[in-house]
Amino acid sequence: MAKLDIITAPDPRLKVKSRPVARVDDRIRRLMDDMLETMYLAPGIGLAAPQVGVAERVIVLDLAHEGEPPAPYRLANPEYVWVSDEDTTYNEGCLSLPEHYGDVTRPRAIRVRYLDYQGEIRELAAEGLLATCIQHEMDHLDGILFVDHMSALKRNMILRKLLKARKTGSSASVGATAF
Ligand SMILES: [Zn+2]
Repeated sequence: MAKLDIITAPDPRLKVKSRPVARVDDRIRRLMDDMLETMYLAPGIGLAAPQVGVAERVIVLDLAHEGEPPAPYRLANPEYVWVSDEDTTYNEGCLSLPEHYGDVTRPRAIRVRYLDYQGEIRELAAEGLLATCIQHEMDHLDGILFVDHMSALKRNMILRKLLKARKTGSSASVGATAF
């Protein structure tokens, strides 16, 4: 496995719509494994392929707490088959927006269909933080960042700060709930 570089905003590669995976082959399995390793090292609880510069519909997640055994999810071509009417709000972070957090309201529960590590079609029902995290990662596949759910004022403030931090070369540490 190899650690990949995580792209930070503002970067045009985070704004593109990723293409579906034709099939889950060794190349995609390797991408999934490399993304997981990158996510664990960051550390974060979710990562989408566009965040490592790959415009393909692949996401990985692991919400296990420190000290618990790993519980990785590897999803290719995830699609919603159901979303709840009821919403929930979570203070989200993102490995591509280091050190910035914001409240985002999304459906509380979802059901997604996807291809697993073996290329089999699966369905996953999720609620709470797992549902929030999957939606956050699926947004990345459509070029949407969590700040795009916030007001233009807040979004521009965060993006300006990130640009400034990059120019001054200050390195940012990332919180444990970034995805
Ligand atoms: Zn993110």
